[in-house]
Amino acid sequence: MRTTTDVPVRKNDEVTLDIIGLTQDGEGVGRADGFTLFVQGALPGERVRAKVLKVKKQYGYAKMLELLQASPDRVEAPCPIYRQCGGCQLQHMDYAAQLAWKRQHVIDSLTRIGKLRVADAAGAAEAAGDAGGAGGVVADGVVVHPTIGMDEPWRYRNKAQVPIGMAQADMADGAAGSLIGGFYARGSHRIIDMDACVIQHERNDESVRVVKRIGTRLGIRAYDETTGRGLLRHVVVRTGFVTGETMVCLVTNGTRIPRVDELVEGIRRALPDVRSIVQNVNTRNTNVIFGDETRVLWGSDVIYDELDGLRFAISARSFYQVNPAQTVALYRKAVEYAGLTGRETVIDAYCGIGTISLFLARRAGKVYGVESVPEAVEDARRNAALNGIANASFEVGLAEEVIPRWREAGIAADVIVVDPPRKGCDAKLLDTIVRMRPKRVVYVSCNPATLARDLAVLEAGGFRTMEVQPVDMFPHTGHVESVVLLVRKE
Ligand code: SAH
Repeated sequence: MRTTTDVPVRKNDEVTLDIIGLTQDGEGVGRADGFTLFVQGALPGERVRAKVLKVKKQYGYAKMLELLQASPDRVEAPCPIYRQCGGCQLQHMDYAAQLAWKRQHVIDSLTRIGKLRVADAAGAAEAAGDAGGAGGVVADGVVVHPTIGMDEPWRYRNKAQVPIGMAQADMADGAAGSLIGGFYARGSHRIIDMDACVIQHERNDESVRVVKRIGTRLGIRAYDETTGRGLLRHVVVRTGFVTGETMVCLVTNGTRIPRVDELVEGIRRALPDVRSIVQNVNTRNTNVIFGDETRVLWGSDVIYDELDGLRFAISARSFYQVNPAQTVALYRKAVEYAGLTGRETVIDAYCGIGTISLFLARRAGKVYGVESVPEAVEDARRNAALNGIANASFEVGLAEEVIPRWREAGIAADVIVVDPPRKGCDAKLLDTIVRMRPKRVVYVSCNPATLARDLAVLEAGGFRTMEVQPVDMFPHTGHVESVVLLVRKE
């Protein structure tokens, strides 16, 4: 291992670097005398002159001073605040190159972390041509398909979560005392005021502007996380792309909102498509956005949206995929990988509001969904009824606790679908899946690293990873979503 004395660079050194990789945070990876330096904004294949900002034992950070040789994948980022904002990481990279990088990122995780063998590109092309894919003839090794991208990768988000602050006297953002809201600057909690976001639905941008304007007029103060004082913490807006319905959620530090009637009236008047205005109370000093209590200020407690002909009720705190167009592509692939004939028993773990469960239920005998957030499970039950689906049932709880109980109660699953949060599946759940011996496992993942770790466990437990389909749910960000088919080895 290196010691600090072998580190070949020091803070403030100027170095010339060849960029050989790209991190999920959009930093180019360069080497100076074999020492790794991360450079924000540099792309693979580029040569840059950079100044060393920070040096740690194994790696350091440098700031780009000059682009000596640009990558052919470099494009002008369309967002005017791209450099300050921490929301997107890849706007300076051509979209086709982003898709290729995401696929490669999945392959690297599978091979390095999962120790899986990945079929070469020719094998992938061959298997991709094999209609239906699932369980078909697969080249030697796991087939990782080309990332499914968007035709129009802008304005795709249905949900905005905007931290709110107060303009300071020295800010260009408006008069001191007015509400600002936008994004945290890269790597900090300094709020950058923003009127429009190029990846956000226009209505969401407009809704946030309206709340800032009316809130300012009514003298509502923003929460200050350093003092713990002030009221408005976040504005969370969700719009159904198919239905056009909007929910505005005000996350507040305390229950009482002064002049709340005027606020509600003003929002309704400015935004006629709002169907629901709710308040969520969060008085804790935490980065977690939502508190436990949600109350309706006006209208419904949910909005509706549709995916592939199914209708969904969505409440403020429920998880609902943010990119509806790509969600349909993702869920269809998950259903295809499940290989259903109409008779199977399927478990949908981490089911949220039952979206994947209902997609599956249209083709399965029976679907059992499990989810930890009680409101989401209520939504899931309501959604099954809303769509006349009688063969899906839902339980509140941790997947790793509920599914072992189902197993003990004699439930046998033909297919298990999992869609865990970034940290992946609990070891106890993986162990239960191995014991339940379903014919297929479909793993939907938003984190290639934990996916690869969990696939290794399932491989050791008697499953074989067949195919991986990356789907670009978050264009211009470093996030990579994939859906994976595993089959039980006979
Ligand atoms: N499949 C759903 C939700 C995926 S997000 C969809 O596509 O919309 C992951 C979900 O897992 C969230 O709803 C979260 O509340 C839930 N969750 C997190 N940890 C869990 C656990 N240990 N057991 C069950 N659900 C969990």
